[in-house]
Amino acid sequence: TTNSMNLLITGGAGFIGTNFVYYWIEKYPQDHIVVLDALTYAGNRDNLERADNHPGFTFIHGNILDQPLVENLLVSHHIDTIVHFAAESHVDRSIQGPDAFIETNIVGTHTLLKAARNIWLDKDPRPGHRFHHISTDEVYGTLKSDDPPFSETTPYAPNSPYAASKAASDHLVRAYHKTYGLNTTISNCSNNYGPFQFTEKLIPLMITNILAGKPIPVYGDGRQIRDWLYVDDHNRGIDLILKKGTPGQVYNIGGSNEQINLDIVHQVCDRVLHTFEQNKTLARTYPDCPCSKGIHPNTLITHVTDRPGHDRRYAIDAAKIQTELGFTPKETFESGFQKTLNWYLTQPPKT
Ligand code: NAD
Repeated sequence: TTNSMNLLITGGAGFIGTNFVYYWIEKYPQDHIVVLDALTYAGNRDNLERADNHPGFTFIHGNILDQPLVENLLVSHHIDTIVHFAAESHVDRSIQGPDAFIETNIVGTHTLLKAARNIWLDKDPRPGHRFHHISTDEVYGTLKSDDPPFSETTPYAPNSPYAASKAASDHLVRAYHKTYGLNTTISNCSNNYGPFQFTEKLIPLMITNILAGKPIPVYGDGRQIRDWLYVDDHNRGIDLILKKGTPGQVYNIGGSNEQINLDIVHQVCDRVLHTFEQNKTLARTYPDCPCSKGIHPNTLITHVTDRPGHDRRYAIDAAKIQTELGFTPKETFESGFQKTLNWYLTQPPKT
């Protein structure tokens, strides 16, 4: 139909991108989706297996740093919307080696912006185009316990190489709107959790370690505060911005769900134990899990040396996207976590 969209999803084989592809295919089956993903350690082609049956779905194995490739995709697939997830995303890796973060997050985002400008504003003008950039609340730095949450006007103060690279990319997106008139939007979201997340991140790491009977590492005193959002709530926020957002605007997305890391760890332990009590067959699949022997998994909690420069508290003021676009999260931590756990329980056990 004339209203259908042609989307280029960068990083669509990663955690949030994969969930976004499934969200979009289900809600807008008439749209065309092209995923561009370099399949780094964090990307998994198999994540998108179910999407391959969808007639409007195309997967391209390639790098966002390849400008001719991106330009070719924009023209040949008549792309009108870029949703840019591709990034190096793990703070600990950015501390060990920042170079890949500068390349993909800064130079890569700039390459996409250049391609979009060349094609959409010059060679193949597309008045209805949109470049949506996915970013993080970590660009705002850290909060003290009595500070108000981050709003869209909070000054940038990134503390890790990851956060600094995302901050730089946000500024470039803004500049391409102000300078060249590219139709851009940006969302800065809090910590996500859900299916398909790589096991280096806190929640999947906890789940897989509990199932394998391995220690659950907790940084420092575990009193850091994060605002957790179920991944499909993030994706509904992006959907609202794409459909109703104002060009040039920034929207914070959050769950209004501030939690102390250690409390999250305990809730996760409680829920895994509860799930094993409800479903006795799990004990056979996960013989090394303490829950299989009726032992509480919180016995696995191990405090490890804190991450350098570890931000103490993040919290999002989501009033703008709530009042302007009608966003509200659907999941509580309890309901979202249960969905997440159920998905990890369908995956082959890790040893
Ligand atoms: P992820 O690490 O799971 O996935 C990143 C994907 O990008 C992978 O599939 C990877 O192969 C791909 N990629 C990396 N470099 C590439 C390149 N040069 N060219 C093409 N593809 C490349 O990340 P995620 O957790 O899904 O995060 C997605 C986006 O959301 C990132 O921009 C991240 O900064 C942002 N974000 C994440 C969170 C979170 O909690 N995970 C919160 C807020 C914002």
